[in-house]
Amino acid sequence: MSAVNSHSAGAWLSIDLDAICDNWRLLRALVAGGNCAAVVKADAYGLGSRPVAEALYRVGCRHFFVAHLNEGIELRPGLAADAAIYVMHGVPPGAEPECLAHGLVPVLNSCQQIAAWQALANARGETLAAVVQVDSGMARLGLSDVELQHLSRDASAFHGIKVSYVMSHLACADDPLHPANRAQLARFTSARRLWPMAPATLANSSGIFLGDDFHFDLARPGAALYGIAPVPGQPNPMKAVIRLQAKVIQTRQVLAGEGVGYSFSWIAPKDSRIATLSVGYADGYLRSLSGRGSAWLGAHELPLVGRVSMDTITVDVSTLPEHAVQPGTLLDLIAPQHPVDSVAERAGTIGYEILTALGTRYHRKYLQASKPHST
Ligand SMILES: *Cc1c(COP(=O)(O)O)cnc(C)c1O
Repeated sequence: MSAVNSHSAGAWLSIDLDAICDNWRLLRALVAGGNCAAVVKADAYGLGSRPVAEALYRVGCRHFFVAHLNEGIELRPGLAADAAIYVMHGVPPGAEPECLAHGLVPVLNSCQQIAAWQALANARGETLAAVVQVDSGMARLGLSDVELQHLSRDASAFHGIKVSYVMSHLACADDPLHPANRAQLARFTSARRLWPMAPATLANSSGIFLGDDFHFDLARPGAALYGIAPVPGQPNPMKAVIRLQAKVIQTRQVLAGEGVGYSFSWIAPKDSRIATLSVGYADGYLRSLSGRGSAWLGAHELPLVGRVSMDTITVDVSTLPEHAVQPGTLLDLIAPQHPVDSVAERAGTIGYEILTALGTRYHRKYLQASKPHST
């Protein structure tokens, strides 16, 4: 699966497909109707859309959401025909035949996208499936109230289109007490009257935890599948999925008063031993972790000192005996005990950004009991 060899690689990324499958099962069990999709956009949040979707298919997932048409085209050959792949951005103008040819279902977000999909259906004399997205208040994607009124007066607007789901997306689902959640639910419920027979989908990961009212016929979690806490500030019920480890390139002794790294943003307060690791912001180890991140050897925390460079970071290993940290030693940067959310917090961002920033230079290892992975 990985193009990068374990010995030659400077850093390793393990992705636990079994944990992703367990997380999907846990979410499915929470959803009132028991119907749960998987959002695998942005290469499954950086973890690999093909291996992730194929693993989820094997445990029963049959609904997959991507953002771009090209993501759907890439994913399609990995999944059997009974798996639906929905393209959330809809189809770029003119690419409708391509979308259909690849067996993808567009999410239609505007009257223009509806008209273009309908034109293709009519030209072929067929009925084509689509999801229709309504804007219930986020003002990002989906039919506006004005467009909905316009469509409600046009009896033929959906002639030739089979509405698989009516969809919307929540802006504030990670804040269970935010009044926007109920307001969006009300607007979504009212908009659905235009398609009284069509099933509906509203909840992302956090939305599932807002309660049964938000579940409708299909939930659409992404982040929680990948181990991100669905309700910030609450205990995380999801299993950790990734472990990121960087190799030590070399260690050195620095004297009190010597600067380390760009701009000498860290000056050794006393004689110290510094290890240089083979990971940097080009690998998605964010520069905002300068002076704030840590590496770990087991439970032993090793503070990052100085700036994050493009290809390296430096950590203070003075608190460990010399033999414990040697060239080739792997240190944890993200691990089940040091989860992606807490790394994100130190970086001043969210777990989503940490995952989707993960770079291409890692040796990637997919863990799966049923299908042990080669390197
Ligand atoms: C990304 C996305 C999701 C998944 O959201 P998570 O917060 O990652 O669970 C669901 N629906 C839409 C429309 C999205 O853009």
